Order: sequence, then structure tokens, then C-alpha cells
Amino acid sequence: VGSVAQGSGANCDIVQYCPHGNGTHTECLGHISPDHDSVNQVGLPAFMSAQLISLPVEQKDGDNMLLLASLKSLDLEKTAALIIRTLPNGDWKGTHQWSGNNPCYFEADILRFLRQCGYEHILTDLPSVDREEDGGALAGHHLWWDFPAHPRKNATITELIYVPDTCADGLYLLNLQLAPVEDDAAPSRPVIFPLKAQP
Ligand SMILES: [Zn+2]
Repeated sequence: VGSVAQGSGANCDIVQYCPHGNGTHTECLGHISPDHDSVNQVGLPAFMSAQLISLPVEQKDGDNMLLLASLKSLDLEKTAALIIRTLPNGDWKGTHQWSGNNPCYFEADILRFLRQCGYEHILTDLPSVDREEDGGALAGHHLWWDFPAHPRKNATITELIYVPDTCADGLYLLNLQLAPVEDDAAPSRPVIFPLKAQP
């Protein structure tokens, strides 16, 4: 028994987990490829340039979505990573029950657009860039990794981040720390450092 409260000498929990949908995690092409590429084989620099933007949750076809037109209305810098905070924001996101509630997702064209802009890493506070139930299509994921046409082995998506309101939109250094697990996705701990003094 791995429980001091139940009489053993030490606590020793057995943890079973799925990185997707259960907390902040970073995933690679292996999420949708038969080769099941490992996210820990992606060459991640210790620090990369990142822009934090905020996008409103909007309505389209009866769903909550992030829309390409709103993204295009922002001034996007040339950075390796784009961090997308959805509005409204709040620390309720840390404990929100997203499953089974058809949560907000990305209009699929956003993923093609961001790929064509040259981004390698995107981070979002949503549970997925795609619709919760889409018949297994994962259209946005396929557009982002350009799979199967031109697979982008070094591109990642990080989901279920949380960006507090104390971080202003702007430019940051991003340290995207991954747990060293050989799998298509791993729990991650993105930390950002402002490149300009915060207001
Ligand atoms: Zn995921």
C-alpha cells in the first residue's frame, strides 16, 4: 500500500495519464501520423521568440470559434511561436470542465494561414484547435502539420495553457519545457519572459 495514511512507510502513487485533454501538453505531427513521431524528437531551442495575442471567442455556424478575420486584423510579428489567449479570460480556465461541452475551437483556415506565415509553434488555452466532435477529421491539425502532403516534423501545438491577465499582449521569450516522455505528446510547462517592460 503506497499510502502513509493507510499504514505504509512512504507514499507511492501510481499515476495513469493521457497527455491530451488533461492539462497543458505539447504535441507534434505524431498525434495524427501512423509513424507516431515523438514530440521529444522535435528540436526545441531553450528559448524562442513568441508573440502573445488575444482573440475573442465568436459565433459561427452555431459554435464558439476563433475566426481568421479577427486574427488577420492584428499586427503579427515574425516570431517562431504564437501564443493565443482567448477572451474572455480568467483563472476559471484552470479548473473548467471542457469535455462534452463542445468547447470553442479554431476556424480551420487559421491553421493554414499560420503555417503559411511561417510559425513553427502555436499555443492555445483551448483544449484543442479542432472541434471536440468532428468525426475524426481533425481538419485544423492536418492543415497545421501539412499532413500528409508535406509533413512538418518540427512544428508543435500546445493546448490547455493559461495566460494570466497580468501578461500584456506583446513579444516574449518562450521556454517550452516538455516532460521527457517519448510519445506524440507530453505534459509541458511553457514559461514566458517579456521582451519589453510591462505596463
Ligand atoms: Zn492535444
